[in-house]
Amino acid sequence: MLTGAFPKILTWLCALAWSHRANKPENPSMFDAIIDQENEIGRLIFMFKNRSIPHALLFSGIEGIGKRTIALTFAMALNCPESNQKKDSGNTSMEMASFFPCSSCRSCHKILSGVHPDILHISPSGNMIKIAQIRELCSKLLLKPYEAKTRVVIIDDAHSMNPESSNALLKSLEEPPENTMFILITNQTSDLLPTIVSRCQEIGFNPISLNGIETFLTRRGLDPERAGILASMANGSIGKALILSEKTNSSKGLFSFRKWLADEIELCKDSTSLTSGLLFAEKLSSKKDFALNALDVMISLMRDLVIYKFSPDKILNRDLEQSIARISYRFSVPDLLLMNAHIQRAQKNIQANAALRLSLEIMAFNLSRV
Ligand SMILES: [Zn+2]
Repeated sequence: MLTGAFPKILTWLCALAWSHRANKPENPSMFDAIIDQENEIGRLIFMFKNRSIPHALLFSGIEGIGKRTIALTFAMALNCPESNQKKDSGNTSMEMASFFPCSSCRSCHKILSGVHPDILHISPSGNMIKIAQIRELCSKLLLKPYEAKTRVVIIDDAHSMNPESSNALLKSLEEPPENTMFILITNQTSDLLPTIVSRCQEIGFNPISLNGIETFLTRRGLDPERAGILASMANGSIGKALILSEKTNSSKGLFSFRKWLADEIELCKDSTSLTSGLLFAEKLSSKKDFALNALDVMISLMRDLVIYKFSPDKILNRDLEQSIARISYRFSVPDLLLMNAHIQRAQKNIQANAALRLSLEIMAFNLSRV
């Protein structure tokens, strides 16, 4: 299924493009959603300025760090008359600003509205990108672009392509039609066929720093205590921090959620750990997003349980220090590391669309045996 509308990203993008151009952000909170990515954006600017843009780029990195926003901005820049007329300023910050498109010309407006006929967006239909979607794309690529200087194909969650879809895409990736480029976006490069990866130039985006997320959230009006807690739970993802912020509307709610998960970790030491673990798995399996958020928090807690043994002042979940001190004392470091590995394995399997309940039950079983 080819789609052109992803409003949330476009809202970010609009603010991002506008604020860079004006050099005086009208909406700094949106603009600041793209942080800690200067080197990666610098590489794109270099390609853009030197007209050395590869046929296919692969944007990799965890969810919620701005990959899609930057892909769309790049597509806009390639087609915006204003971006294309700008000269080398010799000044890095000016170059950064001049890379961003005007957001008001006809081309930018169409891309921002999600109706540009030559910016083609593919995302999973259900759990995967199906071969029919790739065939439909390839038939579109047989035609010349309608109006774009550079037609851009953005493949979101490219790791969701099954082998048939990937193989169907290979030829177009290798010999793309004239004036066409691909941007593949993934959070798991290892799940892509090596033949796909080898045909792309990869740009790896970094997780956002703890301070970066904290500052971003406080600029959006969150109180520093809540911003700090959310940042510690977000594991480097602005997107995750925003979702958590929407779902838990108070510091009290955040505290209870993490306390519940800490208590569940502690229960692994009890004689009834398997029974309680299976109950815990059942509660988590109500929804995939909920389970993944909980596993993220558990990983953050596991980190603190290990760190507490060596540098108690360095833990992230400071408001849970009492619980962390008690639980940390009950487990050895090797046990904690093993438990963390079990949680991460469950997380990876669920992200790869393994059965939710089963993945959580296997995790509970493994945790009960530590
Ligand atoms: Zn423009």
